[in-house]
Amino acid sequence: MSTRKRRGSIRRIRQRNRRVALATVLACMSCMAAVFYFDKKEEEKISQETYAEQEKETDKESTASGQTEEQPVQEEADAAGTELKLAEESEKNQWYLKLVNADNPMTEADVPEVTEETVDTEGYQVDTRIVDALAKMFEDARAEGLNPMICSAFRAWDTQVSLYENKISRVMEEEGIPEEEAAVEAATVVAKPGTSEHQIGLALDIVSHDYQELDDEQMNTPEQKWLMENSWKYGFILRYPVNKSEITGVIFEPWHYRYVGEKAAKEITEQDITLEEYLGAEPVETAVFSTDSQE
Ligand SMILES: [Zn+2]
Repeated sequence: MSTRKRRGSIRRIRQRNRRVALATVLACMSCMAAVFYFDKKEEEKISQETYAEQEKETDKESTASGQTEEQPVQEEADAAGTELKLAEESEKNQWYLKLVNADNPMTEADVPEVTEETVDTEGYQVDTRIVDALAKMFEDARAEGLNPMICSAFRAWDTQVSLYENKISRVMEEEGIPEEEAAVEAATVVAKPGTSEHQIGLALDIVSHDYQELDDEQMNTPEQKWLMENSWKYGFILRYPVNKSEITGVIFEPWHYRYVGEKAAKEITEQDITLEEYLGAEPVETAVFSTDSQE
């Protein structure tokens, strides 16, 4: 083999080795990405399972500690052949049971009188009629050494309108799609005006002071664990529980609490149902992801 030919084949071998090395690196990277993805999926699954287990534990503890007055509904329902206790017809029109979701929008006429809550220095507004219940809940949580904080409450009509319109404009610009299509997509992230409970002043996003992210991890904070177990005593429910998205139309939101009054909160929580079910309303059909984005 001539020197020139040998140099040529050495170059080709080197080039081939480089290609093999590059392919190996790429293959490793995709492997790592896949492992990361499955880990993440597994984590999500585990966190949901943990939540289900937590719920079971909570039930057991309550029964064990003989809280007959606090947990009678499910037992009664079981004894009576699991017949659920739902809202009575006469109650359904009460302000605190007002259903607001993607299929049941409110109008501007439903906007209540709001007052600044008294538990936070940020001065969030809520329906005037729930200020005291909220204050009591925070007082009791803090007495347990917990530090919950509000990160969103009442949203004025005009605010929701501009949040939604801004989102539509951005989607149109970023994706180059017509307004009608952009509106559908925008509504899966930012609530269409009239469809967010934050507009009736009965909903609050509450997070742990030490963990302020609006994600699934929120449910593992001591503040959230306490709220999930106790908020019903003050008339609040965790409005978008895990595994109920097909009914509520909203993802699991372990930070979004809704005032429904003490009786309803107790019955909804103990029977592990949603406000939609309690009111005998149809599951939400409009595709929604979350109603809490303010971007
Ligand atoms: Zn919310």
